[in-house]
Amino acid sequence: MVMATAVIESFAAHEYTNHHVFLKESYAGFFEPNHNHGGNTTAPSPKELIGNALRERVENIDHEICAPGEEDTFFVADLGEIYRQHLRWKLNLPRVKPFYAVKCNGDPKVLQLLATLGTGFDCASKAEIEQVLSLGVDPSRIIYAQPCKTNSYVRYVAAQGVRQMTFDNADELRKIARLYPEAELFLRILTDDSSSLCRLSQKFGASLDSTDSLLGLARQLGLNVVGVSFHVGSGASDPLAFLKAVTDAHVVFQQAAAHGFEMKTLDVGGGFCSDSTFEQMAGVLRDALDEYFPAHSGINLIAEPGRYYVSSAFTIACHIIARRAVEDPRAVAETLGGEGGYMLYVNDGLYGNFSSIMFDHQHPEAKVLRTGGRVLYNTPAATAKPGGIEYSIWGPTCDGIDRITESISFDCLLDAGDWLYFENMGAYTKCSATKFNGFPNEHDVIYVCSEPGAKALLDL
Ligand SMILES: *Cc1c(COP(=O)(O)O)cnc(C)c1O
Repeated sequence: MVMATAVIESFAAHEYTNHHVFLKESYAGFFEPNHNHGGNTTAPSPKELIGNALRERVENIDHEICAPGEEDTFFVADLGEIYRQHLRWKLNLPRVKPFYAVKCNGDPKVLQLLATLGTGFDCASKAEIEQVLSLGVDPSRIIYAQPCKTNSYVRYVAAQGVRQMTFDNADELRKIARLYPEAELFLRILTDDSSSLCRLSQKFGASLDSTDSLLGLARQLGLNVVGVSFHVGSGASDPLAFLKAVTDAHVVFQQAAAHGFEMKTLDVGGGFCSDSTFEQMAGVLRDALDEYFPAHSGINLIAEPGRYYVSSAFTIACHIIARRAVEDPRAVAETLGGEGGYMLYVNDGLYGNFSSIMFDHQHPEAKVLRTGGRVLYNTPAATAKPGGIEYSIWGPTCDGIDRITESISFDCLLDAGDWLYFENMGAYTKCSATKFNGFPNEHDVIYVCSEPGAKALLDL
């Protein structure tokens, strides 16, 4: 943790007071630090890069005089983190080619970097497919991984030459026979997703009781079934779900062979988290694949990771737009467990980029970015401390469910005009933000890149 200490020191050594330089237009784009902290000649660490980008932006905004929206929420994205996650994938699952699940975060720079790194893409709609094709990605690197497809989209992908798609039921097979008989089909099977954050198998996946007859029907319709796919549920926590799914897929491969299909690809779906559970999950999956689909079997292995790639790459900064002291004893009892404290209102919430709280069962952790003219990013004072001043944190809409944090304590006294930040905000956040109540759902992304390799690939 030498790096982390260095970062804290470099921040502690600087008083980040407001320089009162106000930009007319808020800055978004690629951020390159133009000064070196503390005469340190080594490349800045990821935290330093992110911290500098956050600081530069918030120091240029004064809520007392800024134009409407200049204080809007914004993201800092470290493309170097995406690159590191890719290398980590290659190290742990060298035989499995990732097809990034675009729905998780369709950020154009992220897609561009992944396209350059050579991943494939998992898309579920015309717009996602169009976005990926517009990057110059070959249609063979796209899988249309939606088992229940829109007719007009099937005609669209047929025209574009995107052949790979999934199915899990007989009606869909008849649809594909009619609209796109040349498609390369993956039979999506059910999994045990009971230990994942977002369960998918109640909506999609053929049970093992039905796979044999589906393969029979596909044969009868003259369709081309090329593989099996599954998804253990998004945010999976039980590695054994992968083992079970791989063994089930192996059974379906044998059924397919009996029907005369020569299946060539297994798609192990998504569900991988980017925290330390990844290595364990990948280890179990790797062993299962080596046993049931060994290298000499000649079967291609692909996956559809989404959150794994992007979650940790995005940090969001939110502006505290209002504060309310909690004095009413009933309100105190209800919102802050009997103690006095404050309700903080920030300019983003459950209807915006914190939609992940509702849809993705996340608990984003607030940290103090700037208070009283000082930037605290990545210092001990930025983090919640039990026993400090207690706050609840609310979004800007008029709905009572729009609450980010029920209770959190900080040493510092926060007020309107201060900034909070939340890390790990890359997955299932901005993609499901709405414009409810007239608050914008398009926010600036400031890109940094902590990996020279990724910078070179992107020509930055
Ligand atoms: C959502 C989804 C993914 C990505 O899931 P993650 O948990 O983010 O990895 C992959 N494949 C399919 C079919 C999906 O619906």
